[in-house]
Amino acid sequence: MTEKVGKLLYTGKAKDVYETDDPNHVIVKFRDDITAGDGEKKDNINMKGYYNSLISAKLFQVLEDAGIKTQYIKLVEPRYMLSHRLEMIPLEVIARNKAAGSLLRRFPFEEDQEFVPPLIQMDYKSDEFGDPMLNDEIAIALGLVNREEIRKIKEITLKINNTLKKFLEEKGITLVDFKIEFGFDKDRNIVLGDEISPDTCRFWDIKTCDTLDKDLFRKGESGVIEAYRKVALMLLDDEEKNRWGLE
Ligand code: UDP
Repeated sequence: MTEKVGKLLYTGKAKDVYETDDPNHVIVKFRDDITAGDGEKKDNINMKGYYNSLISAKLFQVLEDAGIKTQYIKLVEPRYMLSHRLEMIPLEVIARNKAAGSLLRRFPFEEDQEFVPPLIQMDYKSDEFGDPMLNDEIAIALGLVNREEIRKIKEITLKINNTLKKFLEEKGITLVDFKIEFGFDKDRNIVLGDEISPDTCRFWDIKTCDTLDKDLFRKGESGVIEAYRKVALMLLDDEEKNRWGLE
């Protein structure tokens, strides 16, 4: 690898973060581990990290091209993403174009109900407290962000949703909902971090309505890795597929 992978800084449920020679850069490694239900259901799926790194890199690039600041610098090789170092904000910001998942378990929405404009929800990222939903006042009182930063986070999230929804539709995928995480860079700019992959989004095939995301794993269905591969094949162009050996 051209980039030197340094000390392990952080290890999460599906990714590791390593130091590099540059203190402002890190390498995010996408692992094959997969979890659901706050880590109760666990497995290791060969190649998942490979596909998720390719899909995330592609979607970060699409967002960068639309003028959105992201952590993404480049994919050094599959699974290894060179990224700007961020101080992560412990918020899970969720955007929803259609009602699915926990929203249906908690509220009387109809399955597939469309939200125009999309719903934005924020959960406090904390295993100890079980990722509870919170509002602006609670996020500010916890000292996570100030009022202006939370306004910006929502504004950027809507722009991310518009950009991704349009791009994915062109590729034959419905963006049902997704979770993103932001961090502060060294100048306290709000920057998109983490990942955008079938682990963190609901993707439905426009033609067949097939699920192409982690819901297959959550429900114990087969074809998880085949679905992730299909998303990568649908999103990457030929040059990218050749470069990373995706077939
Ligand atoms: N999500 C995620 N991590 C979480 C919770 C949710 O990436 O810890 C994603 C999930 O994949 C979906 C969206 O956020 O695309 C909304 O998830 P939901 O609240 O419906 O919860 P779930 O059904 O995943 O428990």
